[in-house]
Amino acid sequence: MLSAVMEDYIKAIYTIGNDTDERVSTSELADYLDVTSPTVSSMVKKLEERGLVDREEYRGVTLTEEGEVVALEILRHHRLLESFLTEHLDYDWADVHEEADRLEHHVSDELTERIAEALDNPGVDPHGDPIPDADLRLPEVDEQTRRLSSAAEGDHVVVRRIRHQGDEELRYLSEAGIEPGVELEIVEIAPFGLVTVRTPEGKQSLPEEIARLIETASVSEAEV
Ligand SMILES: [Zn+2]
Repeated sequence: MLSAVMEDYIKAIYTIGNDTDERVSTSELADYLDVTSPTVSSMVKKLEERGLVDREEYRGVTLTEEGEVVALEILRHHRLLESFLTEHLDYDWADVHEEADRLEHHVSDELTERIAEALDNPGVDPHGDPIPDADLRLPEVDEQTRRLSSAAEGDHVVVRRIRHQGDEELRYLSEAGIEPGVELEIVEIAPFGLVTVRTPEGKQSLPEEIARLIETASVSEAEV
């Protein structure tokens, strides 16, 4: 059995590594998990002893094949829980991440499969994150997406996915009327990255650090 903390490290290594396509450094992990570097080093050593990570001095860590299986299992738990809480327990989509962060370590495979069945095996969670299937394969996506922070003025896009680490940024976006499926028009990109968009509810200016979390697909002229 792995502890919840170990599982959180594995999830963090998977998430950061996928975003940067590189080995994950101790300082990146420390930042992400909000702990000190010595704490990270000692935990990474434990994970290495269990064969879950591969560590190279000064170059950071990657997950082993076994580590990646663990990461995908936790993501399956997490994303199905988020979907279940939203669909069946009337949670707002912006309030489920932290709840799922706690529960993901404790649901059995049996419960996970029952949740998947009750939801009819969804491919994405309420934030647009792909859910690994029962064989831990991620659904294939052939659509090109782009971060809102790199959009151009006049672009028409539809929100596909919101990258998040907590509920805070989700609540911010929920209040701004921005969630997966919503169409946006990029009105203005100001210096220092302030992005102004038109949502179906009105204009919203988003700081760059929030715009960077939003993955969008372009809407073709015909659909506008
Ligand atoms: Zn989440």
